[in-house]
Amino acid sequence: MDRIQALCRNFLWEGSESYSKAPLVSWKIICLPTKAGGLGVIDSRIWNIAAVGKLVWWIASKKDLLWIKWIDKIYLKGREWFDYQPNANSSWAWRQVCMVKDKFASGYRNGQWQLQNGHYSIGNGYNWLRQDNLTKVPWFSSVWSRLNTPKHVFNAWLIKHGRLLTMDRLHKMGITDRMTCYLCGTHDEDHAHLIEKCSYTRRCYERMRAWIGALGNGFGSTEQMMKIRHCSGFLRKLLCSLVIAMHYHIWFARNACRVEYKVIHPSFLVKTVIEDGRLALLKYQYYHMSQNDREWCISRGLM
Ligand SMILES: [Zn+2]
Repeated sequence: MDRIQALCRNFLWEGSESYSKAPLVSWKIICLPTKAGGLGVIDSRIWNIAAVGKLVWWIASKKDLLWIKWIDKIYLKGREWFDYQPNANSSWAWRQVCMVKDKFASGYRNGQWQLQNGHYSIGNGYNWLRQDNLTKVPWFSSVWSRLNTPKHVFNAWLIKHGRLLTMDRLHKMGITDRMTCYLCGTHDEDHAHLIEKCSYTRRCYERMRAWIGALGNGFGSTEQMMKIRHCSGFLRKLLCSLVIAMHYHIWFARNACRVEYKVIHPSFLVKTVIEDGRLALLKYQYYHMSQNDREWCISRGLM
Protein backbone atom coordinates (compact mmCIF):
# COMPACT_ATOMS: atom_id res chain seq x y z
CA MET A 1 0.00 0.00 0.00
CA ASP A 2 2.87 2.38 0.85
CA ARG A 3 4.56 1.63 -2.46
CA ILE A 4 1.38 2.06 -4.52
CA GLN A 5 0.66 5.35 -2.77
CA ALA A 6 4.24 6.59 -3.31
CA LEU A 7 4.05 5.74 -7.04
CA CYS A 8 0.74 7.61 -7.44
CA ARG A 9 2.08 10.62 -5.51
CA ASN A 10 5.32 10.77 -7.52
CA PHE A 11 3.45 10.50 -10.80
CA LEU A 12 1.17 13.39 -9.82
CA TRP A 13 3.97 15.78 -8.83
CA GLU A 14 6.76 14.70 -11.15
CA GLY A 15 5.22 12.54 -13.88
CA SER A 16 7.71 9.81 -13.05
CA GLU A 17 8.48 7.10 -10.51
CA SER A 18 10.72 9.13 -8.25
CA TYR A 19 10.14 12.44 -6.52
CA SER A 20 12.15 13.74 -3.61
CA LYS A 21 10.65 17.17 -2.80
CA ALA A 22 7.92 17.88 -0.28
CA PRO A 23 4.54 17.65 -2.09
CA LEU A 24 2.62 20.95 -2.38
CA VAL A 25 -0.61 19.39 -1.09
CA SER A 26 -0.99 16.47 1.31
CA TRP A 27 -2.09 13.09 -0.02
CA LYS A 28 -5.04 13.15 2.38
CA ILE A 29 -6.44 16.26 0.64
CA ILE A 30 -5.67 14.88 -2.85
CA CYS A 31 -7.74 11.78 -2.04
CA LEU A 32 -10.81 13.81 -1.09
CA PRO A 33 -13.59 13.92 -3.72
CA THR A 34 -13.38 16.98 -6.00
CA LYS A 35 -16.52 18.39 -4.34
CA ALA A 36 -14.75 18.31 -0.98
CA GLY A 37 -11.64 20.11 -2.31
CA GLY A 38 -9.54 17.11 -3.41
CA LEU A 39 -8.61 15.64 -6.79
CA GLY A 40 -10.82 12.57 -6.35
CA VAL A 41 -7.84 10.16 -6.35
CA ILE A 42 -8.70 6.83 -4.73
CA ASP A 43 -7.06 6.37 -1.33
CA SER A 44 -5.65 2.86 -1.80
CA ARG A 45 -5.44 2.19 1.95
CA ILE A 46 -9.13 2.93 2.52
CA TRP A 47 -10.07 1.13 -0.70
CA ASN A 48 -8.20 -1.94 0.58
CA ILE A 49 -10.17 -1.86 3.85
CA ALA A 50 -13.41 -1.47 1.87
CA ALA A 51 -12.40 -4.47 -0.31
CA VAL A 52 -11.82 -6.63 2.79
CA GLY A 53 -15.22 -5.26 3.94
CA LYS A 54 -16.73 -7.43 1.22
CA LEU A 55 -15.55 -10.55 3.10
CA VAL A 56 -17.08 -9.10 6.27
CA TRP A 57 -20.38 -8.66 4.41
CA TRP A 58 -20.26 -12.19 2.99
CA ILE A 59 -19.79 -13.61 6.49
CA ALA A 60 -22.52 -11.34 7.94
CA SER A 61 -25.00 -12.27 5.20
CA LYS A 62 -23.97 -15.99 5.36
CA LYS A 63 -23.32 -16.12 1.64
CA ASP A 64 -23.56 -19.61 0.19
CA LEU A 65 -19.82 -20.23 -0.25
CA LEU A 66 -17.67 -23.10 0.91
CA TRP A 67 -15.20 -20.63 2.50
CA ILE A 68 -17.98 -19.01 4.56
CA LYS A 69 -19.18 -22.43 5.77
CA TRP A 70 -15.61 -23.28 6.72
CA ILE A 71 -15.22 -19.97 8.65
CA ASP A 72 -18.46 -20.70 10.52
CA LYS A 73 -17.39 -24.22 11.43
CA ILE A 74 -13.75 -23.49 12.38
CA TYR A 75 -13.81 -19.94 13.82
CA LEU A 76 -17.31 -18.71 14.65
CA LYS A 77 -18.77 -22.03 15.86
CA GLY A 78 -22.27 -20.57 15.89
CA ARG A 79 -21.27 -17.34 17.66
CA GLU A 80 -22.55 -13.90 16.59
CA TRP A 81 -20.14 -12.50 13.94
CA PHE A 82 -20.05 -8.91 15.24
CA ASP A 83 -19.37 -10.06 18.83
CA TYR A 84 -16.66 -12.49 17.77
CA GLN A 85 -13.03 -11.76 18.67
CA PRO A 86 -10.16 -13.88 17.21
CA ASN A 87 -7.77 -15.57 19.64
CA ALA A 88 -4.03 -14.96 19.69
CA ASN A 89 -3.30 -18.13 17.67
CA SER A 90 -5.43 -17.07 14.70
CA SER A 91 -3.63 -16.34 11.45
CA TRP A 92 -2.56 -12.77 10.56
CA ALA A 93 -4.98 -12.66 7.59
CA TRP A 94 -7.95 -13.73 9.73
CA ARG A 95 -7.12 -11.17 12.42
CA GLN A 96 -7.03 -8.46 9.69
CA VAL A 97 -10.50 -9.50 8.48
CA CYS A 98 -11.75 -9.29 12.09
CA MET A 99 -10.18 -5.85 12.51
CA VAL A 100 -12.00 -4.61 9.39
CA LYS A 101 -15.19 -6.20 10.75
CA ASP A 102 -14.86 -3.99 13.88
CA LYS A 103 -14.48 -0.88 11.67
CA PHE A 104 -17.69 -1.73 9.81
CA ALA A 105 -19.71 -2.91 12.85
CA SER A 106 -21.68 0.35 13.19
CA GLY A 107 -22.71 0.10 9.53
CA TYR A 108 -24.68 -3.08 10.30
CA ARG A 109 -28.00 -3.60 12.05
CA ASN A 110 -29.18 -7.15 12.84
CA GLY A 111 -26.39 -8.45 10.63
CA GLN A 112 -27.70 -6.42 7.65
CA TRP A 113 -25.64 -3.74 5.85
CA GLN A 114 -27.70 -0.58 6.35
CA LEU A 115 -27.14 1.03 2.96
CA GLN A 116 -28.06 0.12 -0.63
CA ASN A 117 -30.92 -2.20 0.42
CA GLY A 118 -28.54 -4.34 2.45
CA HIS A 119 -26.26 -4.93 -0.54
CA TYR A 120 -22.62 -4.07 0.14
CA SER A 121 -20.30 -2.84 -2.63
CA ILE A 122 -16.66 -1.79 -2.29
CA GLY A 123 -17.42 1.72 -3.61
CA ASN A 124 -20.25 2.08 -1.15
CA GLY A 125 -18.08 0.85 1.76
CA TYR A 126 -15.29 3.23 0.67
CA ASN A 127 -17.62 6.25 0.77
CA TRP A 128 -19.08 5.10 4.08
CA LEU A 129 -15.59 4.94 5.65
CA ARG A 130 -14.92 8.54 4.56
CA GLN A 131 -18.30 10.01 5.41
CA ASP A 132 -16.89 12.79 7.66
CA ASN A 133 -14.92 14.51 4.92
CA LEU A 134 -17.60 15.41 2.43
CA THR A 135 -18.31 19.11 3.02
CA LYS A 136 -18.61 20.83 -0.38
CA VAL A 137 -16.07 23.59 -1.07
CA PRO A 138 -17.58 26.89 -2.34
CA TRP A 139 -15.28 26.98 -5.41
CA PHE A 140 -16.15 23.49 -6.68
CA SER A 141 -18.31 24.48 -9.68
CA SER A 142 -16.06 27.33 -10.82
CA VAL A 143 -12.89 25.21 -10.82
CA TRP A 144 -14.31 21.90 -12.08
CA SER A 145 -16.41 23.28 -14.95
CA ARG A 146 -16.24 21.31 -18.22
CA LEU A 147 -15.14 24.52 -19.96
CA ASN A 148 -11.85 24.60 -18.04
CA THR A 149 -8.64 23.13 -19.43
CA PRO A 150 -7.12 20.43 -17.11
CA LYS A 151 -3.76 22.21 -16.61
CA HIS A 152 -5.61 25.45 -15.72
CA VAL A 153 -7.81 23.48 -13.30
CA PHE A 154 -4.76 22.03 -11.54
CA ASN A 155 -3.24 25.49 -11.16
CA ALA A 156 -6.57 26.93 -9.93
CA TRP A 157 -6.86 24.05 -7.45
CA LEU A 158 -3.39 24.91 -6.07
CA ILE A 159 -4.37 28.59 -5.80
CA LYS A 160 -7.59 27.72 -3.94
CA HIS A 161 -5.49 25.76 -1.43
CA GLY A 162 -2.93 28.60 -1.29
CA ARG A 163 -0.14 26.24 -2.38
CA LEU A 164 1.64 27.92 -5.31
CA LEU A 165 5.29 28.34 -4.39
CA THR A 166 5.07 32.12 -4.17
CA MET A 167 7.99 34.19 -2.81
CA ASP A 168 6.45 34.55 0.65
CA ARG A 169 6.28 30.75 0.98
CA LEU A 170 9.80 30.23 -0.42
CA HIS A 171 11.02 32.86 2.05
CA LYS A 172 9.27 31.11 4.94
CA MET A 173 10.92 27.81 3.92
CA GLY A 174 14.32 29.54 4.01
CA ILE A 175 14.92 28.93 0.28
CA THR A 176 15.33 32.61 -0.64
CA ASP A 177 15.89 36.01 0.99
CA ARG A 178 13.86 37.75 -1.69
CA MET A 179 10.16 38.48 -1.13
CA THR A 180 9.65 40.98 -3.97
CA CYS A 181 7.29 40.15 -6.84
CA TYR A 182 9.11 39.49 -10.13
CA LEU A 183 6.29 40.93 -12.23
CA CYS A 184 6.02 44.41 -10.70
CA GLY A 185 9.28 44.56 -8.73
CA THR A 186 7.70 46.77 -6.06
CA HIS A 187 5.58 44.66 -3.68
CA ASP A 188 6.05 41.40 -1.80
CA GLU A 189 4.66 38.39 -3.63
CA ASP A 190 1.96 36.23 -2.08
CA HIS A 191 -1.18 34.63 -3.58
CA ALA A 192 -3.45 37.66 -3.11
CA HIS A 193 -0.84 39.98 -4.63
CA LEU A 194 -0.12 37.75 -7.62
CA ILE A 195 -3.67 36.98 -8.75
CA GLU A 196 -5.35 40.22 -7.75
CA LYS A 197 -3.28 43.20 -6.61
CA CYS A 198 -0.11 43.16 -8.71
CA SER A 199 0.06 46.02 -11.23
CA TYR A 200 0.93 43.46 -13.96
CA THR A 201 -2.17 41.37 -13.10
CA ARG A 202 -4.32 44.52 -13.04
CA ARG A 203 -3.11 45.45 -16.51
CA CYS A 204 -4.11 41.96 -17.73
CA TYR A 205 -7.54 42.36 -16.14
CA GLU A 206 -8.01 45.77 -17.77
CA ARG A 207 -7.21 44.34 -21.21
CA MET A 208 -9.57 41.41 -20.63
CA ARG A 209 -12.36 43.80 -19.57
CA ALA A 210 -11.86 45.87 -22.71
CA TRP A 211 -12.06 42.73 -24.88
CA ILE A 212 -15.15 41.34 -23.10
CA GLY A 213 -17.09 44.60 -23.57
CA ALA A 214 -20.26 45.44 -21.62
CA LEU A 215 -20.15 42.25 -19.51
CA GLY A 216 -16.52 42.91 -18.66
CA ASN A 217 -17.10 45.56 -15.97
CA GLY A 218 -17.46 42.87 -13.34
CA PHE A 219 -14.58 40.74 -14.64
CA GLY A 220 -12.60 39.76 -11.54
CA SER A 221 -12.19 36.69 -9.33
CA THR A 222 -13.94 33.36 -9.95
CA GLU A 223 -16.22 34.17 -6.97
CA GLN A 224 -17.28 37.43 -8.65
CA MET A 225 -17.82 35.65 -11.98
CA MET A 226 -20.17 33.06 -10.46
CA LYS A 227 -22.35 35.87 -9.08
CA ILE A 228 -22.33 38.11 -12.17
CA ARG A 229 -25.83 39.35 -13.11
CA HIS A 230 -27.65 39.77 -16.42
CA CYS A 231 -25.87 36.88 -18.04
CA SER A 232 -26.61 33.19 -18.65
CA GLY A 233 -25.15 30.35 -16.57
CA PHE A 234 -23.11 29.34 -19.61
CA LEU A 235 -21.50 32.79 -20.02
CA ARG A 236 -20.85 32.92 -16.28
CA LYS A 237 -18.91 29.65 -16.55
CA LEU A 238 -17.14 30.80 -19.69
CA LEU A 239 -15.98 34.03 -17.99
CA CYS A 240 -14.94 31.99 -15.00
CA SER A 241 -12.86 29.69 -17.22
CA LEU A 242 -11.15 32.80 -18.68
CA VAL A 243 -10.24 33.96 -15.15
CA ILE A 244 -8.82 30.52 -14.38
CA ALA A 245 -6.88 30.50 -17.67
CA MET A 246 -5.55 34.00 -16.88
CA HIS A 247 -4.31 32.91 -13.44
CA TYR A 248 -2.50 30.01 -15.09
CA HIS A 249 -0.78 32.32 -17.59
CA ILE A 250 0.08 34.88 -14.90
CA TRP A 251 1.82 32.13 -12.95
CA PHE A 252 3.55 31.08 -16.19
CA ALA A 253 4.63 34.69 -16.85
CA ARG A 254 5.92 35.02 -13.29
CA ASN A 255 8.01 31.85 -13.71
CA ALA A 256 9.32 32.98 -17.10
CA CYS A 257 10.40 36.22 -15.41
CA ARG A 258 11.98 34.50 -12.41
CA VAL A 259 13.73 31.63 -14.20
CA GLU A 260 14.39 32.86 -17.75
CA TYR A 261 14.40 36.66 -17.16
CA LYS A 262 11.71 36.94 -19.87
CA VAL A 263 8.90 39.45 -19.69
CA ILE A 264 5.61 38.45 -21.28
CA HIS A 265 3.64 41.54 -22.30
CA PRO A 266 0.10 41.69 -20.82
CA SER A 267 -1.47 42.04 -24.28
CA PHE A 268 0.30 38.85 -25.42
CA LEU A 269 -0.86 37.09 -22.24
CA VAL A 270 -4.47 38.17 -22.87
CA LYS A 271 -4.26 36.93 -26.48
CA THR A 272 -3.13 33.51 -25.19
CA VAL A 273 -6.00 33.42 -22.69
CA ILE A 274 -8.53 34.20 -25.44
CA GLU A 275 -7.03 31.54 -27.71
CA ASP A 276 -7.32 29.02 -24.84
CA GLY A 277 -10.97 30.06 -24.45
CA ARG A 278 -11.55 29.47 -28.16
CA LEU A 279 -9.96 26.00 -28.00
CA ALA A 280 -11.97 25.09 -24.90
CA LEU A 281 -15.18 26.08 -26.73
CA LEU A 282 -14.21 23.87 -29.68
CA LYS A 283 -14.29 20.85 -27.34
CA TYR A 284 -17.58 21.95 -25.79
CA GLN A 285 -20.79 20.57 -27.26
CA TYR A 286 -22.33 23.62 -28.88
CA TYR A 287 -25.93 22.41 -28.61
CA HIS A 288 -25.84 23.32 -24.90
CA MET A 289 -25.61 26.98 -25.92
CA SER A 290 -28.51 29.38 -26.40
CA GLN A 291 -28.70 31.58 -29.50
CA ASN A 292 -27.71 34.65 -27.42
CA ASP A 293 -24.66 32.90 -25.98
CA ARG A 294 -23.65 31.74 -29.44
CA GLU A 295 -23.96 35.27 -30.83
CA TRP A 296 -21.89 36.67 -27.96
CA CYS A 297 -19.12 34.09 -28.57
CA ILE A 298 -19.13 34.87 -32.31
CA SER A 299 -18.97 38.64 -31.62
CA ARG A 300 -15.86 38.05 -29.44
CA GLY A 301 -14.20 35.86 -32.07
CA LEU A 302 -14.44 32.77 -29.87
CA MET A 303 -16.39 30.82 -32.51
ZN1 LIG B 1 3.62 42.25 -8.36
